[in-house]
Amino acid sequence: MSSPFQLDEQAVRAVVEDVMRSLARSPILSPAASPSSPPAGAAPARPAAKGGRYGVFEDVNAACVAAQGAFEQLKEKGVAGRAKVIEIVKAMSTAHAVEWGKFEFEETKIGRLEHKIEKLQIVKLVPGVEWIKPYGLSGDHGITLEEHTPFGVVGAILPVTHSIPTLSGNIINIVAAGNAVVFNPHPGGARSAALAVRAYNEAISAALGIEHLVCTVLQPTLDTFTALTKHEFINLLCITGGPGVVSAAMKSGKRAICAGPGNPPVIVDGTGCLQKAARDIIQGSAFDNNLLCIGEKQVFVLAPFADRFLDGLKAAGGVALSSSQLAKLTAAAFTTSKDAGGCSHAVLNRQLVGADAAVLARHAGANVPANTPLLYAETDVDHAFVMEEQMMPMLPVVRVQSIQQAIEFARKSEHGYKHSAVIHSLNVDHMTQMARALDTTLFVKNGPSTAGLGLGGEGYLSYSIATTTGEGITNPATFTRTRRCVMVDNLRIY
Ligand code: NAD
Repeated sequence: MSSPFQLDEQAVRAVVEDVMRSLARSPILSPAASPSSPPAGAAPARPAAKGGRYGVFEDVNAACVAAQGAFEQLKEKGVAGRAKVIEIVKAMSTAHAVEWGKFEFEETKIGRLEHKIEKLQIVKLVPGVEWIKPYGLSGDHGITLEEHTPFGVVGAILPVTHSIPTLSGNIINIVAAGNAVVFNPHPGGARSAALAVRAYNEAISAALGIEHLVCTVLQPTLDTFTALTKHEFINLLCITGGPGVVSAAMKSGKRAICAGPGNPPVIVDGTGCLQKAARDIIQGSAFDNNLLCIGEKQVFVLAPFADRFLDGLKAAGGVALSSSQLAKLTAAAFTTSKDAGGCSHAVLNRQLVGADAAVLARHAGANVPANTPLLYAETDVDHAFVMEEQMMPMLPVVRVQSIQQAIEFARKSEHGYKHSAVIHSLNVDHMTQMARALDTTLFVKNGPSTAGLGLGGEGYLSYSIATTTGEGITNPATFTRTRRCVMVDNLRIY
């Protein structure tokens, strides 16, 4: 894969070795180190903020105060200081991918270990300080420079689906923009977040003398979320999660960049290679047991091509469920609840989110090999597996009569989240009609959904796709304010 952000392997190795040397005496590198037992490493350059060491705090206020101090320190280090932090984060997420991937897998108990590790290995593809570019104007009235400046301290919320990868990607974007950050992680991934935060700050402290540039709350709750959003030092929020947290953040009164929920539909219109479509869909949908917000969640295939497409899913390793098996699994995966207006709707059983296909199969009364990447079953459009963001390796496939019906069903199942959509087609009219009808932030043609994040498609990686609030795939510029500097009638050179 070609990416302008991919570091040369030798350079990565050199940085890793450098960081490892500087941490050689630190207990954080010992397997026995626990995020709940702070390492007794070298003394920090400044006194520790109340109650916290290396960015890990029990108290939100102490974390915000410490991060504000670190923001002031980072300013003194200039752009070179930011670049050093990013170099450390990229090198350490690569070097610790296996250790941290295992830790997160054991803590969250969802997804696939090999993909937890891969998500950390690719953190190096997130863009850094090179992304921050001023915009200049020169004319009859002089010159003007529009520059990107930091907000100060960003408050960030992490999903349980990718705790350390989102944390690491957010740090790169947020620090490249010159900010410090305080995380309120998901309670189910909070120990993983603390492990990485402590390790990052130890290395940052050793290199730059800043102890709390990246802070986290040890035991996050709804109360710590509220305290974070209300804190006087928090100038901007970065929210990555589902509808509840997005809605809460947008009511907080603070500016919020919201990377919200998705339910990405796929259309297969039969004009392209059906086997390749099936392979691509399994690649995206089965990744980390379909925990990715961009992952393919339901397929609409034109009826004349459906049988061959289903054969393609089977050939690519998927296992079909019969209608009775699907009914059993659906009963285990969803319950029914009534909303305030008395309408029934499906509620996801969180116990099965990110479970292996083999576990889902047992709930369906079937036995499949342990390494089965994905189950699939034919459903109608109103099925819970189509309409809910189910985050399970069980792909519903709906036969449709026309491209218009496919687009209408895709639009309905996406719920207006404006997140992600995929089409497998060689018909440009179909692509255009789908793009206009769904208007999603990411729209991938003829590839796995992951191609939308620079993984096999052109572009760059981010773990926070600001769908709800419209900033798109977040990058360092997302976390800056724009200021204009004007010189009147002077300095122009023509
Ligand atoms: P979640 O909404 O259950 O939790 C996300 C975070 O919000 C957690 O830290 C949680 O503690 C907190 N939270 C939840 N409800 C809250 C509330 N009412 N008030 C305050 N805080 C609250 O989501 P999850 O299961 O951790 O992650 C999966 C969800 O995140 C999916 O909907 C997925 O699409 C979305 N997601 C989006 C992106 C993106 O880039 N757009 C990336 C990853 C995940």
